[in-house]
Amino acid sequence: MKFIDITRKYGNTTYGYPFEDYSVNDHYRGLPKYVYELCIGCSACGIACPPNAIKIAPNEKGDRLVWEFDCGRCIFCGRCDEVCPTAAIRLSSEFELAIATNTDDMIQRGELDMEYCTICNEPFSTKRLLDYTNERLKNAILSEGRLKEAQVYLHICPDCKQNAAAGTVIAKKEEKIR
Ligand code: SF4
Ligand code: SF4
Repeated sequence: MKFIDITRKYGNTTYGYPFEDYSVNDHYRGLPKYVYELCIGCSACGIACPPNAIKIAPNEKGDRLVWEFDCGRCIFCGRCDEVCPTAAIRLSSEFELAIATNTDDMIQRGELDMEYCTICNEPFSTKRLLDYTNERLKNAILSEGRLKEAQVYLHICPDCKQNAAAGTVIAKKEEKIR
């Protein structure tokens, strides 16, 4: 009788899930959703992801960058969401993540075109990341000459940049000696 009294007083406090819809609160950390169109292939999410649920690596030919998320490894920490500069990955409120038999259903995937170094012709970054950086350079307060120089350097891979910088230093030293 005591239990019935309590139930009468507080009403029904349980949900009829799964027969009734269950809505989680706004801060719920559900399935991360990837928006391929927004991804620039910067790798920030892959670096930040603690259990390596996001893997980012070039394909065998090296002409495309493969972005892959494995829900089976995800701990729903939200680090990818925090670090993504373009909101290409966002935690959703989706929590019904069971799959029948096809484990591919746990995978989200995208491939991005690579850009080639203007010196060594090796792929080194995604086209989208260079476009994104170029837009930011245009909005930065730079002189026209400095902007052009930065845009040239943007299309050179890190190794060639290092070699070019080393070459400049050596040339300057040789000039001083003469
Ligand atoms: S929510 Fe956390 S574990 Fe899941 S993909 Fe993002 S960073 Fe990785
Ligand atoms: S951080 Fe965002 S833009 Fe960068 S690779 Fe991850 S999903 Fe793509």
